[in-house]
Amino acid sequence: MRKFLTQLTLCFALIVLLTVALIAIFANIFLVKNFDSYLTNQQLEYEQNLASGLTLQYDDETEEWNVEYIHGMGMYALEDYYIIKVYDKNGSVVWDAENHDMQSCHNVMQGLLDEITRLKTQNPQSFFTTQYPLLRAGVQIGTAEITHFVSNGLSESDQQFINSLNVILVVVGVLSLVVAVVVSVFLANKISKPITQLAKVTKEISRGNYTIRCDDTTKTQEIYQLTDSVNHMTDEIEKQEKLRQRLTSDVAHELRTPLAIAASYLEAMSEGVWEPTPERLRSCQEEIDRITNIVSELEKIRQIESENLNLNRTDFDFKEIVESVTSLFDIKMSEKKLSCITGNDKMIVNADERKIRQVLLNLISNAVKYSYEGGKIEIGWQEYDTEWKFYVKDTGIGFPQEQADLLFERFYRTDVSRSRGTGGVGIGLSIVKAIVEAHGGKVTADSVQGKGSLFTVVLPK
Ligand code: ADP
Repeated sequence: MRKFLTQLTLCFALIVLLTVALIAIFANIFLVKNFDSYLTNQQLEYEQNLASGLTLQYDDETEEWNVEYIHGMGMYALEDYYIIKVYDKNGSVVWDAENHDMQSCHNVMQGLLDEITRLKTQNPQSFFTTQYPLLRAGVQIGTAEITHFVSNGLSESDQQFINSLNVILVVVGVLSLVVAVVVSVFLANKISKPITQLAKVTKEISRGNYTIRCDDTTKTQEIYQLTDSVNHMTDEIEKQEKLRQRLTSDVAHELRTPLAIAASYLEAMSEGVWEPTPERLRSCQEEIDRITNIVSELEKIRQIESENLNLNRTDFDFKEIVESVTSLFDIKMSEKKLSCITGNDKMIVNADERKIRQVLLNLISNAVKYSYEGGKIEIGWQEYDTEWKFYVKDTGIGFPQEQADLLFERFYRTDVSRSRGTGGVGIGLSIVKAIVEAHGGKVTADSVQGKGSLFTVVLPK
């Protein structure tokens, strides 16, 4: 596996090399092409000037050519790699650069001509000949044959310019490469540092250290989101771990008390300290029943959780269910002198009727259980465009608001409810939560301790 730094550096280097290479290729093609057309134009202009210059060397009156001047012009043209041949109107040669008397020429001119002759034999395609009619007042007085040498399109200075441009491009390429490496080292460090740290943190978490957190001071949004999610996940794991520990100790606690009582009774009776009277045996039976009850509650929640996957949805009137469930508590409510107010409106709900009845049963049972004598219980409901909402409110012992979410965890009971010996085992609300969530809904708990509680259920349509 390649390191992030290597990958980034390779990527940057490739981009830089490609860019510089493309610039170099296009610049060269563009320059050569432009020089070509520039040279062609220049050549044409030069030749036309030459032809009109030659016309001037004809004397109308004497009908003679000024060969001396033509010779001078021819020599200058030769220096520029143009070979001139001038014919008069009858077609006889007036002056020919290749055949004139070389004695009078400068050595350099001779050398130049030699060079041109050499090039011509070596590469005849590099020479182009054009014929220009020499006109005076519309009448042809002769013809100029101009041959020019095309030296690859580019002069030495042009080639020099392109060479220096290429050198500049190479220098820019090398400099950009250095910058690319520096930038990629910087970027790779900036990105990979928090990722490496994240890897370390998640490794620690997998070893069971849930107190560790990632440093989330990064300014990169995506990295921040990642560290934030990992920190959030660790918070959740830590919370679940604490709950798991609490659950184990709570189950142990719930089982220990009845077991200890039953064991001490049986021991006393078997050692002959106590007479095994029917009442004592019934007490033992009650404690064992309590243990059986805890086990069956556990079994119930397991069953509800597995059943929840397949809901048996039907349309039913919520009001009717409330009435039938509250009637189950008539005796208990009158014993505690509780008043119960319920809504009057019909509300057709599409849900699993049996399970929603269980939710109401658990909530109302708690409201009755945790109410003070003479308290008030209120059950209300309302239909909205996208959801059904109902609540169970009481004026009972309440709970600390910060424990609101914990109430829905298995075996969780507030200290007050434990000490009051209400007989619950802390499963009822976890069943409520499991059923509501299976319907895609949400259950929340609110309370002012000592004043009362409010449990609200929202079921989406
Ligand atoms: P149980 O009532 O059997 O203990 P639940 O899961 O129904 O178990 O409730 C868990 C805990 O939530 C209770 O032990 C109690 O501390 C708290 N609780 C539930 N309902 C109420 C209520 N209406 N008023 C005050 N506390 C409540």
